[in-house]
Amino acid sequence: MATIYDELGVRAVINAAGTLTRLGGTIMPAEVVAAMARAAEHCVRIEDLQDRAGQIIAEATGAEAGYVTSGAAAGLMLGAAAAAAGLDIRKMERLPDTTGMKNEVIVQRPHRNSYDHALRAAGVTLIEVGGIGHPSPRPVEEWEIAAAINDRTAAIYWLDLPDLAGSIVSLEATARVARRFGLAVIVDAAASLPPTANLRAFTAAGADLVCFSGGKGLRGPQASGILAGRRELIESVALQHQDMDVHPATWSRRARYLESGRLPGPPGQGFGRGLKVGKEEIVGLLTALRRFLERDEAAEQAAWQRDAAIVADAVQRLPDVSAKVVVPPGRVVPLARIVWDEAQRRLSGVALVNALAEGEPAICVGGSGAGGQIHVNPFSLRSGEAEIVGRRLRELLA
Ligand SMILES: *Cc1c(COP(=O)(O)O)cnc(C)c1O
Repeated sequence: MATIYDELGVRAVINAAGTLTRLGGTIMPAEVVAAMARAAEHCVRIEDLQDRAGQIIAEATGAEAGYVTSGAAAGLMLGAAAAAAGLDIRKMERLPDTTGMKNEVIVQRPHRNSYDHALRAAGVTLIEVGGIGHPSPRPVEEWEIAAAINDRTAAIYWLDLPDLAGSIVSLEATARVARRFGLAVIVDAAASLPPTANLRAFTAAGADLVCFSGGKGLRGPQASGILAGRRELIESVALQHQDMDVHPATWSRRARYLESGRLPGPPGQGFGRGLKVGKEEIVGLLTALRRFLERDEAAEQAAWQRDAAIVADAVQRLPDVSAKVVVPPGRVVPLARIVWDEAQRRLSGVALVNALAEGEPAICVGGSGAGGQIHVNPFSLRSGEAEIVGRRLRELLA
């Protein structure tokens, strides 16, 4: 069947690697696509739609308030901007210049990662705490976070990565320190859905802002995300994100902010304007969130297990090949982990991964192939694709 990518002269790929952004994330359910099309049929005041989205996100997460962003990274940028500027429109106007503001965000060293660029983009400086790992890597301790707090501290950042348990201060303990100093904890949980329980887990553990990707495990629009957290921080986000080409006398939020005396006037176009979200993304995200909450987790798990097993079964009787279906610790999506004796083959593991990606059909798997190992993640496979991946792997490994 011809895809729209064929019409454009671009090769579509079989995504056997998960929800990677560079592969377009994942497949959106037809119901989400249809909701986006309906959203495009009418205009709506974005602030009204975001307020309603915020209520729905608050219910789903247990947070006070919520917001639809253009992705988890946008959530981090907006969260850092909110922590630095609060509801001060002069500070909003100056961002990302944070001179003289609270502009330090504390991060445990093992939590440094290349997505934290999003925080730095808001003009804050990351203050690292914890040992540097050699000669004896030791866990970060609670007192190290407390000791780094000063008058310039705006927030504490926390990354959800199951692999780090044991080497970092837990979210509960981090939130305890933050509370003592009146600071916000901003959690990056971009790739932490599913499981469904994680929608609430970080807020319940004390996070003040949590960001999730909309286009990964939620199967919403690729350029969407959720920010859930404290009302005042979400208000700051909204004021710095929405179109502020408004007149004070006719601004739809004049009662909330101007007549109440909370703001001296509306802010101008803010720091977040480059992270714009359309009505289609907001409606798509909300539809994806509803589906996510209603889906049958057991049936979904069974379908992944079946697809992963189809791939593993296709190759495991080949000589020197081991193929197992495993669920990595702290995760829910099973992977087919395939390991082989590289020395016994004409193609190196890396050449095999490149041959898969450059072959027909193009198949992208997890891992580089180095050392003779890859994994196949079934999350983004379409019906019938597990068989194709298995067949192609068997050809290349035989
Ligand atoms: C994917 C990811 C991001 C970025 O999320 P987007 O929704 O693509 O902006 C940030 N942090 C982590 C840990 C991620 O896995």
